[in-house]
Amino acid sequence: MTGPCLCVDDPEIDEVINLDTGIISPARKVIGSDYDRLEKLRMELAEANASGESLYACPICMVGVYLSCRRKDEKRFFFKHRTENGNCPAITRSELSKDEMLARKYNAAKESRAHIRLKEIIADSLRCDPGFSEVETEKVWRGMDRTKWRKPDVQALWKGTIRIAFEIQLSTTFLHVIAERRNFYRQEGGLLCWIFKSFDQAEARMTQDDIFHNNNRNLFIAGEETLKASAADKALMLDCHWLEPQAVNGEVIDAWCEERVPFSHLQLDAAGQRVFFRDCDGLKAGLAHQAGEEALKQRFFIWWRNSKRSWQDAEWNEARQEFKKRGVFLPEYTYDVLGLLNGLYSAREGECIGWKHPNFISAANTVANSYKNVIRAFRAALLVYDRGDLLKREDKKGNWAKRVIEYKKKLAEGDKDYDRDEQYDPLIAFLFPEVWAVLSGDK
Ligand SMILES: [Zn+2]
Repeated sequence: MTGPCLCVDDPEIDEVINLDTGIISPARKVIGSDYDRLEKLRMELAEANASGESLYACPICMVGVYLSCRRKDEKRFFFKHRTENGNCPAITRSELSKDEMLARKYNAAKESRAHIRLKEIIADSLRCDPGFSEVETEKVWRGMDRTKWRKPDVQALWKGTIRIAFEIQLSTTFLHVIAERRNFYRQEGGLLCWIFKSFDQAEARMTQDDIFHNNNRNLFIAGEETLKASAADKALMLDCHWLEPQAVNGEVIDAWCEERVPFSHLQLDAAGQRVFFRDCDGLKAGLAHQAGEEALKQRFFIWWRNSKRSWQDAEWNEARQEFKKRGVFLPEYTYDVLGLLNGLYSAREGECIGWKHPNFISAANTVANSYKNVIRAFRAALLVYDRGDLLKREDKKGNWAKRVIEYKKKLAEGDKDYDRDEQYDPLIAFLFPEVWAVLSGDK
């Protein structure tokens, strides 16, 4: 509905809290510009007031509000306290610090019906789980320093060893009100577990700097459904959402995932104040490491394919050092692994790599003729990279077919010339893990 906003320009109460949801909204937004809708809302508020209930309240003093109209002002509206005792800082304009205002709003949101219900849900779910004891709602948790305390929404003892504080995440408005709490629970040897009412990807990303990011990019939702599941499974069940890093075409992409999980499947990290199902940070580090390894292998391949492959090349010596760090032996002279690497790279690429032959079949014949101790690895590679058809197609004279019969006989006889040079096993496993998987099972 478009049109001019029906709120007065300078409302005394500039924000109201919906006592069902706990959501705090600007008065201008609740009043809006739809006159019909507003008249209905006005009636609802009046009826609720008459029955001693409130739909909306002032988030600073928690007194219920109703809609009033300034008739001389072309039917413009504003919220008024149900009882005007002159104490509300919103009216008296008394000096409340920004932090005090936020703390008041935070406490107001905690009194919403949705929040109260969620506390019950968490406590009831905890009582379903025999792993938890001493389930308490809104109980003071006093620090070792007796002057310091917190009152978590719900707390319970897990496996008789670690006390967990469950706090309901109300809205991103309050992030900094709650961020400091982690320190308190860390010092107490407890653990803080945030529970969200609902999941919103955009919201989750906004909280990334705080709860979400600091919690290994896992967040937990509880509600009527998880309560049912907790009762059925006799375990605290939570809906976990996490942002999982995945390798897609050489890039790391974050993807949202979700699963309903029992608390016993979560990892508890008291030092980091983290409770998580998937170790997203660990996965990301792993993927970054993997990407680095792939890049190293790719650089080495390109150098091997395109250069003259002198043992004196800086690239060769750098590769020898890098490979050595990974427990992979490269010889001093490139010639010593020429047959092995040319053969396996050719099989992998489906074309001749390293030799100046026109066809793949020539590379295969060269291996069979001149590098008998590479035959076993080469055969495994032909299988893994599925080069059977290519060989058949290119073997116009049938030379390869003859060689296969020949080397198969030698292999069957256990001819020592065909034994593979095992010092290069780590090299095969590193550069061609799929070939190694077959070869290492081959006797
Ligand atoms: Zn007020």
